[in-house]
Amino acid sequence: MIRKITPEELESQRPFTENIRRLYAQRKGDTPPLAFVRTFGCQQNVSDSEHIKGMLYDMGFAFTEEPEKADFILFNTCAVREHASDRAFGNVGALKRLKKERPDVLIAVCGCMVQQEHVAHKFRESYPFVGLVFGTHVIHRFPELMHEALIKGKQITVIPKEDGVIAEGIPVCRDSAFKAWIPIMYGCNNFCTYCVVPHVRGRERSRSPQLIVEEARQLVEAGYKEIALLGQNVNSYGKGEEHGVNFSELLRRINALPGDFTIRFMTSHPKDATHELFDTIAACKKVSRHFHLPFQSGNDRVLKAMNRGYTREQYLDLIRYARSVIPEISFTSDVIVGFPGETREEFEDTLRLVDEVGFTSLFTFIYSPRVGTPAATLPDPIAPDEKVAWLKELTALQEKKSGERLKQLVGTVQRALLENAADGYLEARLPENSVVRVAGDPSLVGRYATVRVNDARSWIMNGEICEIE
Ligand code: SAH
Ligand code: SF4
Repeated sequence: MIRKITPEELESQRPFTENIRRLYAQRKGDTPPLAFVRTFGCQQNVSDSEHIKGMLYDMGFAFTEEPEKADFILFNTCAVREHASDRAFGNVGALKRLKKERPDVLIAVCGCMVQQEHVAHKFRESYPFVGLVFGTHVIHRFPELMHEALIKGKQITVIPKEDGVIAEGIPVCRDSAFKAWIPIMYGCNNFCTYCVVPHVRGRERSRSPQLIVEEARQLVEAGYKEIALLGQNVNSYGKGEEHGVNFSELLRRINALPGDFTIRFMTSHPKDATHELFDTIAACKKVSRHFHLPFQSGNDRVLKAMNRGYTREQYLDLIRYARSVIPEISFTSDVIVGFPGETREEFEDTLRLVDEVGFTSLFTFIYSPRVGTPAATLPDPIAPDEKVAWLKELTALQEKKSGERLKQLVGTVQRALLENAADGYLEARLPENSVVRVAGDPSLVGRYATVRVNDARSWIMNGEICEIE
């Protein structure tokens, strides 16, 4: 069952927040305690961390990038692939010495990884210096859990098995002053056979459209230029809810807000991407002309074994329809190489699809077996070396396609948002989500400008600012 956290439940956290504030004031006097928060994985985790930072801020914490200086250290982990899990274990393990030198430091681990039984067990058995381990469904109780860990001084583990919660009103400390993440739904019901997400993030549940639109309105009023709507499958927003607002309608309502801003969203599932959605994007000028639409494999047998719910042809039909109504739209995607039992011929279907569609960029992954998922029990005869060779082939093809696509942009003049600054250069993000490197002062970050694209290589475009808005 999905539970809505009541305002009273959230309010019951307040005394713990105050107690923690007092406790650190006793320890540190007027110097604010410092927190180090490291996030692995997807934007949902980034958004969760922003909310945990909001609660830490309320407790009086300031933030540091150096774990050695921190009083509280948190790793928000990812379970999607082995590599991300290994890195989290490595990072946490490296803190054993720090905890010995400074026993007052509280080390905590949260996120998708610890929501898995065997991982929580490993933290209990092999990482006793970690003081707090908590799952994805109890973030709203963070002050209470942190308080318990501080008082008890031994490892606290809280990983309830439930379908998920919706908690409104948790404070948030956003990483950027011009780009904001807004979660619109949580969890996933798709159960792709390779994927751990439905097992660690619970069932699909959507936030109320009124609260989402209000949050977007406030952010735009506060000067945010980009609103990114988050969900594992944003296209199924509103399913099963009484309000009857689907994702297209939500986009229309946010698009209708006054102000100069861009709406992005991720991630879309092809089986739920409708013509209505593409028609809506065509009509809504504030919605980005970029669509991240993971296809995972270009072969029908593999797609079926993955339980993706669409065929190669249906995927290509979607791309064709989208381009017929939004000619300037750009596509990016996710691909898995070496799904158990995938043959060379089947992998070649993936190569052909990449060649045919012409994605702006691709996120390519070698299949990683996940405990508890059906695919992890399938025979997997292809040697790891061969999978690496296939991946290289795929990335080489994509590099060529990206180069071709970016070359088409050379000479164009477009409106772009000026983002990260380094070494006298800024990254100017075009509406279709590609980035142009332009010379500019760091003070311009967060402003819109018209930029001219002067040249393009496989991944990088260089250009210049024509006019700042
Ligand atoms: N909900 C999103 C993405 C979730 S995970 C979607 O369905 O598109 C992000 C990406 O990680 C997936 O698109 C997939 O390409 C990859 N991924 C997920 N599980 C994986 C696994 N077991 N091995 C390798 N890649 C995986
Ligand atoms: Fe995982 Fe599939 Fe859900 Fe995406 S749609 S989170 S890949 S189960």
